[in-house]
Amino acid sequence: MAVKLTGDGSGVQSTGDPSFYALGLYYTGTQVNYAVVCERKLWLFSRHMEMEKTSDAVLLGRLIHEHAFAREKKEVAVDNRIVIDFSTRDGVIHEVKRSRSVEEAHRMQLLYYLYYLKQKGLEVRGLLHYPRLRRKVEVRLTAESERKLRRLLQQIQQVVRREKPPQPLRKLSFCKKCSYYELCYA
Ligand code: SF4
Repeated sequence: MAVKLTGDGSGVQSTGDPSFYALGLYYTGTQVNYAVVCERKLWLFSRHMEMEKTSDAVLLGRLIHEHAFAREKKEVAVDNRIVIDFSTRDGVIHEVKRSRSVEEAHRMQLLYYLYYLKQKGLEVRGLLHYPRLRRKVEVRLTAESERKLRRLLQQIQQVVRREKPPQPLRKLSFCKKCSYYELCYA
């Protein structure tokens, strides 16, 4: 099946699990990613403390994306909530990443996109790209991965409702590369 997504996601109907909407599980891909990486980062980001725009690592990631897939159609936004790097007519949505340091977070982010689209009646596959490593990872929604994702969405809901941010991870080697480092350790 070809993936047909309009720029704003209009034209696709919500036909999926009603609890997805009833529970207010409306998050962005970045929030899903951060829920795996660090709950504090998730909380800060969800309170609109967005540091990514000033991060060299994020800028580098964008450059890699733009150069590696210059001919592909870029960034499809659905509902102004999820932003897919690009989709192809073979029923695949693609996500481009710089390094595999948080591959599980990348996988869950892409699984979330698959799940989100499934709620709209679109069943597609996902492909993670690591152009610098010449590596691709296929991601499919299964009953087990869907259960795992739903648990993660519930975890996000709990974290973003907290009044105070979770404690820093105290993993300095990891945190030093994080764009929120100064908010956690200054
Ligand atoms: S610096 Fe570390 S503790 Fe702070 S948000 Fe980033 S990953 Fe989390």
